[in-house]
Amino acid sequence: QATPSHPEPISLPPNTSSAKFHEFLRRASAIVGDENVVVVAGDDQLQQQDYMDRSKVHDMFHILEKEVFLHSCTVAPKDVPGVQNIMRLANEMEIPVWPFSMGRNLGYGGAAPRVPGSIGLDMGKNMNKVLKVDADSAYALVEPGVSFFDLHQYLVDHDLRDKVWADCPDLGGGSVIGNTMERGIGYTPYGDHWMMHCGLEVVLPDGSLVRTGMGALPNPKADKNAPPHEQEPNECWQLFNYGFGPYHDGIFSQSNMGIVTKMGVWLMPNPGGSQTYMITFPRDDDLNRIVEIMRPLRVSMVLQNVPKLDNILVSAAMEGTRSSYTNSKELMTDADLDAIAEKLGLGRWNFYGCIYGPPEVREVLWKVIKGAFSQIPGSKFYFPEDRPHDKALQTRKNTFVGIPSITELDWVSWLPNGGHLFFAPIAKLTGDDAEAQYELTRRRSEEFGFDFLGAFLVGVREIHHIVCILFDREDPEMRTRAHELIKLLIQEAADRGWGEYRAHLALMDQVAGTYNFNDGAHMKLSEKIKDALDPKGILSPGKNGVWPTTYKQYNKQI
Ligand code: ADP
Repeated sequence: QATPSHPEPISLPPNTSSAKFHEFLRRASAIVGDENVVVVAGDDQLQQQDYMDRSKVHDMFHILEKEVFLHSCTVAPKDVPGVQNIMRLANEMEIPVWPFSMGRNLGYGGAAPRVPGSIGLDMGKNMNKVLKVDADSAYALVEPGVSFFDLHQYLVDHDLRDKVWADCPDLGGGSVIGNTMERGIGYTPYGDHWMMHCGLEVVLPDGSLVRTGMGALPNPKADKNAPPHEQEPNECWQLFNYGFGPYHDGIFSQSNMGIVTKMGVWLMPNPGGSQTYMITFPRDDDLNRIVEIMRPLRVSMVLQNVPKLDNILVSAAMEGTRSSYTNSKELMTDADLDAIAEKLGLGRWNFYGCIYGPPEVREVLWKVIKGAFSQIPGSKFYFPEDRPHDKALQTRKNTFVGIPSITELDWVSWLPNGGHLFFAPIAKLTGDDAEAQYELTRRRSEEFGFDFLGAFLVGVREIHHIVCILFDREDPEMRTRAHELIKLLIQEAADRGWGEYRAHLALMDQVAGTYNFNDGAHMKLSEKIKDALDPKGILSPGKNGVWPTTYKQYNKQI
């Protein structure tokens, strides 16, 4: 029953009585301390709207009602044994747990769980140390609560920026571990965060502890009497990913197979100089040629970083709200978009990149890049110093060298009470594919009453196409429209062989269902591994569409 320290939650865990829940709270408090257990009991706990003051209990950008994705409580372990003991308790009591590190996975569900009433395991609150930085071998070892801001600040505070940089995504407030596990990206040459991780320490659903890769080989200098999580790791743990035998790291990413307590991340050696640049292209139909020019340059690494090609409204939304450009409720026409581009001194497509190395190297690369893109009539070339008041360019100048910020949040305010969803399909790095995705996503967005905001983020051989569906959080009709739009886009994209690289909680089942080659063989494999590692199904059931057998009856339809 409710006690003075533990009120009734808005949402109980599934199949859990109030008495059982309160027993869980008592036992969890004994493990992590009362101050680290917070019950989600009232609407006043669902009011946060700001990135910097984020909610740890629900999705701030909810497209369904707030209560659909909601924790019953949060529990913040103090250390690795705390995580292990909470998992043992959750198994014993058969109560689902959903770990998050920072809870800023916005656009994809934030800190919220797929199954309402889950226990939110707040990994970042107390476990937030940069455990090690080796500037010579260029890596760091971090805990879940280390944000991109924190890691960067650590390098600054220890005078290490002249030796190494840490890559960061658009927004610096997320955790290095959470973003990497979700396969998020940044913009330096180390922008593929999953590719650049090296070595995981993981608590499995049954509470046991594993180190992957070289971490499985003990360090002969380690104190064997110390608890495993404190033992000095193998000196190559952060240097060589694979160790010996099956390479398990992949099953922990975008998954519900384990909880990461430590992760190695490669840092980028300071290249000895950099030059950010922007190239603007005047016409909407320049897209095909831009991408065709990009491909050989990127595949051969002449384009050294993850470049970004923004549609005009992405750049415009950084500079002002929709109402600062128009009073009309009608969708923007091509003439409107041309006028905005003209006003801002931008193109219909704007390409942001960076060159790294000493001046001689940069000079040669710039010549090649400029020469290639000059083939497009009307293309214009800028350095940040040419446009000191250009917010996007000035921000990217920092992001491209691993200096995090939150400026990119500005485009979320395009509409009042701005919320957003990301539709994020992968595309071939070809002009035809980019054009086809642009055509489909813009047409459908406009049919549903949304201005098109999209960006192409170039991996090495593919593009992450990020379509931002911006809606007014206070407008339920608009939220429903956004939801209907993205469901249709997922279906139509899959019909053309395009799949998303990441998805919001409300869409995970649908997206997972599109990856169904050979009668769903991939999902069957995931389910087999899930059931073997987590027979009670208590770790993040439903995460990325993977449901344990124990939750098969759970209503998957949202
Ligand atoms: P961010 O750190 O970017 O704010 P979140 O903390 O919201 O991201 O985490 C995003 C998702 O990543 C979570 O919903 C969870 O599925 C997964 N995740 C985050 N941290 C961990 C972790 N330590 N171990 C396993 N999965 C994690």
